[in-house]
Amino acid sequence: MIIADGVRPDVLARSIDAGQLPALGALRDEGQLSTITSAFPSVTGPAYAPFLMGRYPGSVGLPGLRWYDRSRRIARLPGHSRSYVGAEMRLVDRDIDRASPTIFELAKPSLGALSVIGRGLRRRERIGQSPSFVARAAATHFRGNVRGWLAIDREVGEEAARRLRTQRMRFAFIALTGIDKTSHAAGQDAQIVLDALRIVDDTVAQIRLDAERDGRWKKMHLWVGSDHGHSQVSEHEDLVALLTGWGYSTLAHPWAFTTSADIAVMVSGNAMTHLYLELEQKTRPWWPALGERWNDLAEKLLSRSSVDLLILPTSPSSCEIRAPGRGSATLTWSESRPLAQIRKATPPSRAWFPTATWALAACLMLVAALSVAWHNRQDRHYLASHPINGSTHEENSEAEIARDNQLMTEVNLEINRKERSPITEYGLSVATDGPAKTRAEARIE
Ligand SMILES: [Zn+2]
Repeated sequence: MIIADGVRPDVLARSIDAGQLPALGALRDEGQLSTITSAFPSVTGPAYAPFLMGRYPGSVGLPGLRWYDRSRRIARLPGHSRSYVGAEMRLVDRDIDRASPTIFELAKPSLGALSVIGRGLRRRERIGQSPSFVARAAATHFRGNVRGWLAIDREVGEEAARRLRTQRMRFAFIALTGIDKTSHAAGQDAQIVLDALRIVDDTVAQIRLDAERDGRWKKMHLWVGSDHGHSQVSEHEDLVALLTGWGYSTLAHPWAFTTSADIAVMVSGNAMTHLYLELEQKTRPWWPALGERWNDLAEKLLSRSSVDLLILPTSPSSCEIRAPGRGSATLTWSESRPLAQIRKATPPSRAWFPTATWALAACLMLVAALSVAWHNRQDRHYLASHPINGSTHEENSEAEIARDNQLMTEVNLEINRKERSPITEYGLSVATDGPAKTRAEARIE
């Protein structure tokens, strides 16, 4: 798996169409090119979690590039905050959920090149973590030398291809960050972004050529993906300065060692910030309880043109989303057992549900009913503007919906019945310190 970090789907498709990326073009023609949705937050590092752990960043312990440790058990220094920008990056593997395996722990031997999450990789299975490499990358970063990042990508791509050619491995994760760096520096349509894309293309071409030569290609899966895209950004609001101006004291990087503050401002990338309130509380307060004291702040933030969305967590599995001029919405989710999207609400039978779950079911049904109503309206609009034969109507017939619902219910039941904890599933031991062990490692010990 190659991460073309930060590439926009339209930039990628356009460059392939123009014949500038022949190896990626061949992959598209033989396979497919799809636009997918990133995780929240869609920032380099945390957004690698779905690729490497199959889970969302927040729930594995990477809520953002920077975060505040309310529990004070993980970030113990005064200020109790983490920043993976810089030296604390090495703490990622220690911070992520020990009960959840990384793909490196499951598919051995593996290779990781510039992978923010690397738990399960031995030192010799990593590219881009030697002290000399880190020193050079840091120098490139601080000099703002964008061409320097391309040289690093070129080197990482060639080294990864060499390892794949000479060593047998089950999985390789190769992150090339040049597209992200150049898009930030020059905008996603700049010539230098195409130069960075060509390095991804050359890396793909080399890996494929080597694998075709020695017969591995038939069994190899090669994926090129991205953790997020890019948008044209012309303005930046300094949230710390804004909050200070409104009279709040803040805890924020780079000097995040303040012992008391009204608000912890934990910035991830330049488009998303977590604001932590009531810092003295060691367990997380949810929005209904925070509203009385903090709703004014929420409203003031929403009045800024820099604020597109405000997400207010209301429970471990729900939040309220407010968008200026576009109203608000409530979102509920379940990560381990995704809710089937039941397409049509039917009143639940009281005999099935204990009273406590009935209320929850009713809420879910309401949400489902709203989405069905919306869906149907969209269909009507679509059908009105695109008169076609009757087959589309058939897809939404009562019988079809009933069959879909039946199928989804069965799938859900099956998943619930079969699901085991990752510890049981993968034979992991619960480590008291350090990374979780795989079955093979535990056996060797
Ligand atoms: Zn990224």
